[in-house]
Amino acid sequence: MAAARDLRVTGMAEPGDEDAVDLARRHLIQPWPFAGSVGHEARALIGEGDGIYITDSSGQRLIDGPAGMWCINIGHRREELAKVMYDQAMALSYNTPWYTMNAPSAQLARRIADHAPGDLSHVFLTTGGSSAVETALRFMQFYNNVRGRPEKKLILSRGGAYHGSTYLSASLNGRPRDRDWMDGADELVVKLSSPDPFRRPKGMSLAAFTDGLIDEFRDTVARVGAERIGAFVGEPVQASGGVIVPPDGYLKRIREICRDNDILYISDEVVTAFGRLGHVFASGDVFGIDPDMITFAKGVTSGYFPLGGVIISQRLLEQLRRSNHPDAMFGHGLTYTSHPIGCAVALKNLDILEDSVLAHAREVAPYFQAQLKTLEELPLVGEVRGLGLMGCVECVADRESKDPLQLDKNVGKRIDAHCHELGLLVRPLINMCVMSPPLIISREQIDDMVAILREGISRTMDDLR
Ligand code: PLP
Repeated sequence: MAAARDLRVTGMAEPGDEDAVDLARRHLIQPWPFAGSVGHEARALIGEGDGIYITDSSGQRLIDGPAGMWCINIGHRREELAKVMYDQAMALSYNTPWYTMNAPSAQLARRIADHAPGDLSHVFLTTGGSSAVETALRFMQFYNNVRGRPEKKLILSRGGAYHGSTYLSASLNGRPRDRDWMDGADELVVKLSSPDPFRRPKGMSLAAFTDGLIDEFRDTVARVGAERIGAFVGEPVQASGGVIVPPDGYLKRIREICRDNDILYISDEVVTAFGRLGHVFASGDVFGIDPDMITFAKGVTSGYFPLGGVIISQRLLEQLRRSNHPDAMFGHGLTYTSHPIGCAVALKNLDILEDSVLAHAREVAPYFQAQLKTLEELPLVGEVRGLGLMGCVECVADRESKDPLQLDKNVGKRIDAHCHELGLLVRPLINMCVMSPPLIISREQIDDMVAILREGISRTMDDLR
């Protein structure tokens, strides 16, 4: 019975047709599949969403702990967004961005520019986060070509980073698993350390650790040559790397070095923008920096429509306009650039965020962090860290060695499986569990979430005994 109901809900087939899980196993390729199971992955089938909850094929209601993929910021089943999508589709479902434009995209660009720090004034809209990062990088290449600096193209990126799954954006990724079996534009990328305080050498102060990171950055620029480096790309908080919150002052100091060396600072806010840290953009409002470009996606539509973009500084555009090559073309565009339905959804989503959700996120974030932190009482937990409404529980074999792997490679998956049984969806990352619930979560719901996580971790400790 459950299968028939799910098929109706997901619209994948009529009742009586094959079960959706079977269909997926035979025809659907899921993201990040293993070679041994590609095209045969069995994943939980989700039929419905409502607020902070989703319902799986057995009818079980789960707290959506990761808010999809850090994106369902205003929660599931918001009628206002469904209605705006319908209305915009009936008015204008698409227009060719090559030589026409639509009003929602212009209005959205204006609203985004109003929230952006510094002189970030113009927005190029894309289809998601990877295409946003790709656009920013290609823009840097174009910018330096037009300025007569064709050798200034190298990109600085860090361990633990995740910037996307297109060729160039993926080349920046710093999590080993993402790159082990994949090629990339390695000749264009220079890697730096992740600013991960938990993994700093034993006995080292936070101040000395931060100074070391800054020295590494400065030395790398000196060694490689500022004249060859086009951009630094960094997430304000490394999200998929395990919610790595950088030490105080680190981002500001990196920003200064970039400015001094004519290196463009690209702040990848695909996760952190649109409320995850309580503000529309975290670069300025949380970290006090004014990047040359900010990339965003996910929360801009709360995941209701695939949309992303890059905000570009007025200064860069003026330099292009004043260049000796007024006819040089930025040969870059996507069919779905400035999609009217996506932009209309984003405008309504922004209304909702501004009306109440940003303030709510700022209000509950300290409670969310404090409750999660109580999990450090459990012996399996090495550290709980986070900022705003993003948090990470990192498990270790023992607190002395902080060894993640000696423990069990599947510890995150084990916790996820137990939590699923108990009513919570968790995002496992090897030895970590990442939590980033919809921003509308209440204190009581935070209590429920943490209680389930505590029980899931306790059961995992029993498994490993
Ligand atoms: N940048 C960051 C920081 C991300 O976390 C992600 C995705 O998780 C991306 C870029 C890529 O975005 P998308 O999956 O929408 O292409």
